Formats: sequence, C-alpha cells, structure tokens
Amino acid sequence: MTVTAVKPINHWISGEVYEGQSGRTGAVYNPATGEQTGAVDFATAEEVDRAVQAAKAAAPAWRSLSLAKRAELLFAIRELIHARREEIAKHLTAEHGKVFSDAMGEVTRGLEVIEFCCGIPHLLKGSMTEQASTGVDVYSIRQPLGVVAGISPFNFPAMVPMWMWAPAIACGNTFILKPSEKDPSASVYTAELLKEAGLPDGVFNVVHGDKVAVDAILEHPGIAAVSFVGSTPIARYVYETATKHGKRCQALGGAKNHMIVLPDADIDMAADAAVSAAYGSAGERCMAVSVLIAVGDVADPVIDAIKQRIPNVKIGDGMDSTSEMGPLITREHRDKVASYLDEGSVIVDGREGCPDDGFFLAPSLIDDLKPGMRAYDDEIFGPVLGITRVSTYEEAVRLVNENPYGNGTAIFTRDGGVARQFQFDVQAGMVGINVPIPVPVAYYSFGGWKNSLFGDRHIYGPEGIDFFTRSKVVTSRWPDPATSSIDLGFPQTR
Ligand code: NAD
Repeated sequence: MTVTAVKPINHWISGEVYEGQSGRTGAVYNPATGEQTGAVDFATAEEVDRAVQAAKAAAPAWRSLSLAKRAELLFAIRELIHARREEIAKHLTAEHGKVFSDAMGEVTRGLEVIEFCCGIPHLLKGSMTEQASTGVDVYSIRQPLGVVAGISPFNFPAMVPMWMWAPAIACGNTFILKPSEKDPSASVYTAELLKEAGLPDGVFNVVHGDKVAVDAILEHPGIAAVSFVGSTPIARYVYETATKHGKRCQALGGAKNHMIVLPDADIDMAADAAVSAAYGSAGERCMAVSVLIAVGDVADPVIDAIKQRIPNVKIGDGMDSTSEMGPLITREHRDKVASYLDEGSVIVDGREGCPDDGFFLAPSLIDDLKPGMRAYDDEIFGPVLGITRVSTYEEAVRLVNENPYGNGTAIFTRDGGVARQFQFDVQAGMVGINVPIPVPVAYYSFGGWKNSLFGDRHIYGPEGIDFFTRSKVVTSRWPDPATSSIDLGFPQTR
C-alpha cells in the first residue's frame, strides 16, 4: 500500500476539523488485511487545552438551553444516528474488524442509551417538600458539572463513547472525547453527525492521542469529571490521577467473566451460549465469556458440544456478509492472545487454518484451566475459551468470588432456586441467568465490581445521570417582612 492511501484522521474542536500540530501520529489498520489505512493525530497538552477552552466557551449557553429544546435536539440526534447507522458500522468494521452485523448491533445498543437520554426532562426532575418547617419549602435540583471528558477503549468505538457523551451533554455539560487511537474514525464521524443534527459548536469535541493526551485531560483544571473505559491497569491509573486532581471519576476496567454450567442445564443451549459469548467479536468484549466452569459430570458433554460447533464459525473479513467472526485489533494483540495456546490442555488450537492476511485467530478451547495458570489468571481478550472442572456449585461460586475481576458472570441451569441463590451469592456487577452476556438495558446502569470498576458510579442509565450532575438543595420562605426579627441561634425546624 502506498503512503498516499493512508487517510489523515484529525481532531474535532469547536465544530470543525482541527489538524494536529504535534507531528506525532498513530497508525490505524484494517485488521482484516493488515494494511495501514489511517494516521491519527496525537494531541499535545496545548491541543487538549484548546478543546477545553472550546468546551468552556460553549458551556454557559448549553446549560441555559431549556430542557424542552435539549430534548428536541436529542431526538434529532437519535434520528440522524439511526439513519446513518450503516455508515457508522462501516467505520467500525474497517478499523476494529468486527463483522458488520455485530457492528450494527453495537450501534443499536448505543442508540438505546441516546433514546434513554431523550427523556432528560424527566431524568433531571428533583424533589420538593412543601412546609418542611412552618412557611418553609425545600427542594432539590440537579445541575451539570461543566466541562467533562470521556476516554474510551478500542473494542466499542461507537457504543462506549455514546455511553459517555449522550448522558453528559443531555445533562447540560460540554464534552471532550479521547477515543481509542486504534479505531478513531467513528468518533470524528459522530462529531460531524452531531453538528448536522444542530448541536452547537464546542459542546462535543474530539481529541485523539496517547498517554500525553490522557494525562493532559486528567490534569487539566478546567475539566470537572472523567468517564473512562479500558483495561484495569489504566483504569486504576486514570482513577487515581483524576481524583488526585480533584475530578469526579468513574473508571471501568477489564474482566474475566465466568459462565457456570450446572449438571441440569440444557447442554445444547449452554454450548450455543458459550460459543456465541466467547467468540463473538473475536472475544474482544469486556462481557465475553472467558472461562466456562463445568460442574459435575457436565464437562465432557458440554466440551463435545462446543467442539462440534467451533468448525462451523465462519471467520473472515467483517464486510463479507457470511463472516461471523473477524480478526483481532492488531498483530501484536493477536500474537499475545495466541501465546496463551503454548501451554495447558489445548483442545482446539485457533492458530491452525487461519487466513494468512490480517490479524486473525480462530476460536480456541483449553481444558482444565485452574487459578495460577496464565490463561486462567489473565484477561486474554481474544477468542480463547477455558474450561474449568469443579465438583459442586459451591466450588464454582467460590472461583467467581475469589477472582479479582467482577464484571459479568452467568449461570446456566433449569433450577430456579439455585439461580436465585447464585444471584444472591455472586460478587459481580452484572449477572446473567441463562443469559451469557448480561449487558443491562439502557434504563439500568452498566458496571462491574472489584477490579472491573474504580469509582462509585456505574455508567449510563440512572447512575450515568447522577455521575454527570451534582445536586443542589434549596430552602426557601416568603414571610411577611413585618414578622422579621434577628435570631442568632442555629436554624431549627418549627
Ligand atoms: P486500554 O486501557 O489500553 O485503553 C483505553 C484508553 O486508555 C484508550 O483511549 C487509550 O488510548 C488510553 N491509554 C492506553 N494506555 C494508556 C496509558 N499508559 N496512559 C494513559 N492512557 C492510556 O484498553 P483497550 O485495549 O483500548 O480496551 C480493551 C480493555 O478495555 C479490556 O481490558 C476490556 O475489558 C476493557 N473494557 C472494559 C469495559 C467495561 O465496561 N468494563 C468495556 C469495554 C472494554
């Protein structure tokens, strides 16, 4: 490929493209071919500041816009993104590699969050108490924080930013997005759509980059809050640095999701679920199933059923409508994921029979994984499913609860009583009962426990609205001035 075919991908500041001046760029690839297709600008601290100033300038008018008009604009944004969802999905497949149908699913789940935010007049309703004291009323209101930022991972280049910017701007904040440098085009396209829908300039800005841009965001005194989604080490760093600089922060991290299959489960249903949840999006989902815990004598039949299904998973370029699983994000990541197949009882080795071009690894299966083994302890983030064999339900739950991550988990059983006990016992933020990828609907909130989330607010849904607002409580009275007197005592209710 010639250098001229490489597309420049620039920042978006104050409603227009801003060409980066740093002289530093990152390579963007089509993972299905392995070719470089783009060069994304990496921002300096000064360029981040430029975006903050644009967001700051837009903030007073944006927070003053009536909720009726803000809701009207959110409906227009929803309509435009829905109308252009195929274009967004094409950007996702081109730079992330996920198959087009999966990319369309990503956009649809992101749209659901925007739809939730169209109800912002209702969501920002406060509460009121009349006559809290004689002649005194008390009420609460929720107000935006000001300029806020979102830093997102490569694996959901459209949906995760929507989890951040939609509630942030609906609440009246102005926003700066630092998307993943690996697949940044969907964010710039989103910026163009928001402008076309009528969003005022400066309300939504995009700065690209690496640690330099992230650090500039975390340290900038003009940014009030940071929403982060990514791997656990970076989430921990972002949380610690942002809070040290006085910011509100929610930092969602990595995962190691366990799916428990009990002896009474339907084997075919469990195998279908495991294959879908382990290999969908090439395992690059924070809610992907990574370990299947087989309880009792269910292991051999469930492994057989999974083994039968793996050869039928069609691997290929995401724009080929027959493909079910695409490549991984980069060559380095593919090689790292493949290295987990160098040890343990590998039953299916995905290195065999993969397309030569691009960053592909076929579905892989490892038996007899145990804590202490690399493939059990690490978040692999690829199409590698491990099987762990245990004798009892109690052992299975202990494994989930002792794991340092606590994002999602699932149980497959026909026994309602055990399922209910599991929901009570298990230490994870999102639980599936016969549901392998329990990503909450948009009117609940998404978030893990333990090392899967730093901060105390989950993302989107009601907790997302909480995160992007602060509350104010007003105490008011309208007495007859003739009754006024001095009282130096502490105010008491009467
Ligand atoms: P990542 O942590 O490498 O990157 C996330 C963001 O942080 C990117 O914008 C990146 O540019 C930035 N970043 C990377 N290194 C940095 C550094 N040293 N200092 C400052 N900023 C840095 O994550 P990723 O590889 O893009 O995404 C995959 C990870 O995200 C997986 O661990 C996955 O589980 C996690 N994830 C979690 C959720 C969730 O909701 N909990 C959702 C999606 C992805």
